[in-house]
Amino acid sequence: MIQSYAKTPDPRIVGIGMTSQRTRERLIRRLEAEGIKDPRVLDAIFTVPRHLFVDEALSHRAYEDTALPIGLGQTISQPYIVARMTEVLLAGKQVNSVLEVGTGCGYQTAVLSGMVQKVYSIERIKPLQERARERFRQLRLNNVFLRHGDGFEGWGAQAPFDAILVTAAPPSVPQTLFDQLRCGGRMVIPVGDDDSQVLLLITKDEQGRPQRQVLDPVRFVPMLQGIGN
Ligand code: SAH
Repeated sequence: MIQSYAKTPDPRIVGIGMTSQRTRERLIRRLEAEGIKDPRVLDAIFTVPRHLFVDEALSHRAYEDTALPIGLGQTISQPYIVARMTEVLLAGKQVNSVLEVGTGCGYQTAVLSGMVQKVYSIERIKPLQERARERFRQLRLNNVFLRHGDGFEGWGAQAPFDAILVTAAPPSVPQTLFDQLRCGGRMVIPVGDDDSQVLLLITKDEQGRPQRQVLDPVRFVPMLQGIGN
């Protein structure tokens, strides 16, 4: 079993103090207790400094397993949900290109960037995208490509993708996104309205047909049409 997060102290997070290392280890043990098994996912959650993705005033809560506000009415997803979506999306395989819809603060993007060759991420709210870009620059994540646009349109020029991860909830699976998925690829997407949403795994078989599996009840912000400012 690979459990590099259990090593102390971890040279990748030196400088932020032992308390932070302990709170991160506590988070990882909680995710394991909740059923997250992929060591690459646990390692990524341990390594990515979530406190840099939330407002400074909330950074002491960054390693709690909870969603937090990131401004402009949006939220950073709960670590358990990020871990669960990533684990299902990658299914323990080597994945080259992932499209993410809803960059937000960029936390999920950063978790993915350590595990796949290239991450393409679309955000409709420009200031959120700019803040995320600055964080990726600081963290030297050179395999992340950002686009200010409407995720309903996907990113045709870079399609097809091996995997697509949607982090805002549309009323149903957008056909354009399904079309941009490679045969054999996987899409993880919350679908529903404000009252009721489910997380779906959509697999595109070799004939291009969708297979649909319902995972968990979830609560995401709505996926909205068009771009914001
Ligand atoms: N992955 C993020 C989650 C952010 S919340 C994280 O780890 O923090 C979801 C994000 O989806 C919000 O930032 C919201 O602005 C964005 N979003 C909603 N509809 C969208 C659309 N049509 N295209 C692109 N982004 C969208």
